[in-house]
Amino acid sequence: MKKLVFATNNAHKLEEIRAILGDKIEVLSLNDIDCHADIPETADTLEGNAALKAEYIYKNYGLDCFADDTGLEVEALDGAPGVYSARYAGGEGHDSEANMKRLLKELEGKDNRRAQFRTVICLIEGGEEHFFEGIVKGRIIEEKRGGSGFGYDPIFVPEGYTETFAEMGGEEKNKISHRARAVQKLCAYLNK
Ligand code: IMP
Repeated sequence: MKKLVFATNNAHKLEEIRAILGDKIEVLSLNDIDCHADIPETADTLEGNAALKAEYIYKNYGLDCFADDTGLEVEALDGAPGVYSARYAGGEGHDSEANMKRLLKELEGKDNRRAQFRTVICLIEGGEEHFFEGIVKGRIIEEKRGGSGFGYDPIFVPEGYTETFAEMGGEEKNKISHRARAVQKLCAYLNK
């Protein structure tokens, strides 16, 4: 069976992609290939970071692989926090409460609350790079609502819905999310 490394150890992301690729492609995690390095994510675009991570695996392990990077792009903030979404409030990052607090502060008094989540996947197959993008448009509300999900989910309402991602619950979110859309494009390409 064809093998592909996904440059992540995030169990949720692995489960999502394995469910779509079924028994056609074996998806290996970083743990599966004994990679415990802190792979650099120093680019200033989502495309750049996804490529950096995939290239790291390809150069060091010589395996076909892919990597993803996601950001929340807010129109009134010229696309911020974008590639810096995980560490918008500073520090090591991934402090979702602090990140949301900063975003709500930046948007105080602004009428334009339009935003989008964007995921970019970089696939390296036989040394060649391919990019896949998934976008979900929506808006940032003024106060947090809902308890599921992660990151900015409690303040993001996708277009055509009234609930936030955090009120929606995983199953529904995963049907329309930025990541799901990028993953579906990757899978359509791989299943070709
Ligand atoms: P990553 O590239 O998947 O690690 O995502 C980078 C950052 O974007 C995360 O730390 C979150 O702050 C934010 N993010 C990514 N995906 C989501 C999502 O589905 N909901 C809410 N926030 C997200």
